[in-house]
Order: sequence, then structure tokens, then C-alpha cells
Amino acid sequence: MKVRIDADLCQGHAMCALACPELFQLSDEDGHAYVEDENVPPEYEAAVERAVRSCPEGAIQTS
Ligand code: SF4
Repeated sequence: MKVRIDADLCQGHAMCALACPELFQLSDEDGHAYVEDENVPPEYEAAVERAVRSCPEGAIQTS
């Protein structure tokens, strides 16, 4: 699984970082979320799916 965040949609609600703090980081500059590595380790796939569902902006895509 790969994950990416649409920076134009992200509003910095931080729900993704609550759902999966191991992968989702928040920028010190604008509070928007980012991932260091788009490749999701298998053990975090369920948490990333929770993050997708919890994002109020629909800004997280997986493939
Ligand atoms: S939950 Fe969605 S809008 Fe909020 S920081 Fe994460 S990606 Fe951005």
C-alpha cells in the first residue's frame, strides 16, 4: 500500500496523526500533514485506513 496526502485539501486537523502517529507527521510551518515515506509497512495498513476514514477533508489517498 502507498499513501499520499493532497496538500491542497489538507487543513491540518491532525486526525491522521492521531490514527497513525508512526506515519503521519505535522509540519511545524503550516500544521499540514505529510508522510516521510509513501510506502506503508503492512503492520500499519489498518491504521492508515482509519486515518483515511477520519480525515474530514478526504485529503488522504491510498493505492
Ligand atoms: S486529517 Fe486530513 S486534513 Fe487533517 S491533517 Fe490529516 S490529512 Fe490533513
